[in-house]
Amino acid sequence: LENKILALEARVPKTYPEVKFLNYLSRKRILITGGAGFVGSHLVDRLMLQGHEVIVADNFFTGRKRNVEHWIGHENFELIHHDIVNPLFIEVDEIYHLASPASPPHYMYNPVKTIKTNTLGTINMLGLARRLNAKILIASTSEVYGDPDIHPQPETYWGHVNPIGPRACYDEGKRVSETLTYAYAKQENMQVRVARIFNTYGPRMHMNDGRVVSNFILQALQNDVITIYGSGQQTRSFQYISDLVDGLVALMNSNYTLPVNLGNPVEHSINEFASIIKDLVGGRSKINHLAEVEDDPQRRRPDITRAKKYLNWEPKVDLNTGLQKTVDYFRQELHRFKHSQRN
Ligand code: NAD
Ligand code: UDP
Repeated sequence: LENKILALEARVPKTYPEVKFLNYLSRKRILITGGAGFVGSHLVDRLMLQGHEVIVADNFFTGRKRNVEHWIGHENFELIHHDIVNPLFIEVDEIYHLASPASPPHYMYNPVKTIKTNTLGTINMLGLARRLNAKILIASTSEVYGDPDIHPQPETYWGHVNPIGPRACYDEGKRVSETLTYAYAKQENMQVRVARIFNTYGPRMHMNDGRVVSNFILQALQNDVITIYGSGQQTRSFQYISDLVDGLVALMNSNYTLPVNLGNPVEHSINEFASIIKDLVGGRSKINHLAEVEDDPQRRRPDITRAKKYLNWEPKVDLNTGLQKTVDYFRQELHRFKHSQRN
């Protein structure tokens, strides 16, 4: 033990990625709830590199310290272990409110907690923003459109959601979260932003979050059967993480207060998506059709006219480029996992 302590004391100082210098007038204190998760950690990177002070509040339900560990110890960064179902008292200028499980197996694991996070948690964050007169951006979702009967989905569409189905804890939770946001905005004269995020993928996605991107890539990398739920004719539109981060920051910095779709409008059936992954990864995986999932939305594609017009935003990363980076990440993760099991 003594030797280990000596080794720790002799440790070379950690080096951090280089951040821009901002003077105190342009540097903001920014809270990111759920900042140790997939989307949140990429947003942390962007705002840290821009020179802002970033505070992450996360209960580590699906997030990991490892996603932000490269900032731990940096003077502009703070990581707070906090469950947003409980009030948080800090001083900030802006809030990106992302805390919520996002993948179906995660949000269905404890539906009551998912509802609490999206209702009580959102009330706590809106209350904080009101007290501080801070701008707040809420991460909503394409799931507010449910199994849509309008295609593609514009923000003016009110949605088609089963209020008592297995996805309701998330879909209705996010719908209430939006309702709360606009009720506070109107009643308390607050500055709010609402991003309706469509399926997003990229490095730092959870290995076992059960989503189609992670499942198919892992299955292909390990020569396992690729599992398609149902006919595979259902569609999704996949956006790369850096495009989403561009959109979130552009939305926060805009003057636009109504909900904005952030997603990539290039749509694929799940059957096509399985072939794309198989071609990209190679290997010997076979494709198998399993039972369909209850209330699975059959079509999903964002209408991004609003984001183009008001944010001057549109996705830049094509599916192959983004998937290649994601495959590389999963390959490394598998290697790391196998290595750590051997030790
Ligand atoms: P994620 O699961 O990787 O990250 C969510 C983070 O929130 C995790 O770090 C988790 O630990 C934290 N969290 C959950 N409950 C919490 C609580 N009660 N208190 C504090 N922290 C809590 O998911 P993600 O993909 O990064 O999603 C981030 C946000 O974006 C979510 O609000 C999600 O609904 C939304 N969104 C994501 C997608 C997508 O495709 N990834 C699509 C639509 C919407
Ligand atoms: N899906 C699939 N096989 C899997 C995982 C998901 O066929 O191993 C399907 C799922 O039924 C849905 C689509 O892929 O139609 C996207 O699922 P995901 O859980 O990634 O996200 P969702 O958009 O449903 O929230």
